[in-house]
Amino acid sequence: MILRLLIAIIIIALAFFLIRRLRQHKQIKTKQVSQFEETVSCKECGLRLPKPEAIEKDDEFYCCQEHAKK
Ligand SMILES: [Zn+2]
Repeated sequence: MILRLLIAIIIIALAFFLIRRLRQHKQIKTKQVSQFEETVSCKECGLRLPKPEAIEKDDEFYCCQEHAKK
């Protein structure tokens, strides 16, 4: 009786673990897609880089401070 209960608990725990892993995997995938979409190119040299890494100035994007100054 106790053994059956233990097996049931283990199965439920495993199911929860698998569901959580699957959800995390999906979240990572959507994150990668959104990052890919948020790619901008430097107005000065045309280098493509992720939007969070780019320097924004007057609604234009630049790869480095030097190019943003021009
Ligand atoms: Zn540049």
